[in-house]
Amino acid sequence: MKLELADAKKWIDLFIEELKENKSNLNELDTAIGDGDHGTNMDRGASAVVESFAKKDPENLTDLYKATAFAMIQKVGGASGPLYGTAFLDMSKAVKEENLELGELVQVGTDGIKRRGQSDVGMKTMIDVWQPVSDALKAESLNQSVIDEALSKVKGLVATKGRASYLEEKSKGHIDPGAQSSAYLFESLIKVIGE
Ligand code: ADP
Ligand code: MG
Ligand code: MG
Repeated sequence: MKLELADAKKWIDLFIEELKENKSNLNELDTAIGDGDHGTNMDRGASAVVESFAKKDPENLTDLYKATAFAMIQKVGGASGPLYGTAFLDMSKAVKEENLELGELVQVGTDGIKRRGQSDVGMKTMIDVWQPVSDALKAESLNQSVIDEALSKVKGLVATKGRASYLEEKSKGHIDPGAQSSAYLFESLIKVIGE
């Protein structure tokens, strides 16, 4: 399947709402294994996306993902800003290819995070949500349980990238904040495309 502009816009709008609603939850998760700012960072990015769309309504998918990427890169800060930014920037370029399926597109975003973060699955980061979601989308089987399972796996992992890796074994038993914000991203997608 592929997303049309109106649905992709709905996806990003819902993500922004989730980030605003869950700012303190994301901060709490980051307080446990990081520096407590992930919710504040993503909320700042969310506001920047809203501003950008208000200034110029995206005319096509490339514009939509590019505007999202720029807002994230410029305003989120922290480790997560450039990572989300790279994901959406790579997706904005890839979406120009007409035959790209949604699963392939999200895989491009995932690969961008891996490249930019020099990270991979199993390191207790946002990738541990992005990768299983990419796989499920490619198999046309994305649903809430894919996300729930990914998050519960993340909880059991020891972090080997990002701030949480400083805690070593003590990072176990906590949900990674970037994995949770990514869960909000893809729960928003499910709301648009259905299970
Ligand atoms: P900071 O750690 O700089 O305060 P945030 O709190 O906004 O930044 O974001 C932290 C999140 O970024 C982590 O929970 C993790 O998911 C993600 N992250 C950090 N470093 C990497 C990396 N190298 N690769 C992938 N994701 C990462
Ligand atoms: Mg942080
Ligand atoms: Mg920080």
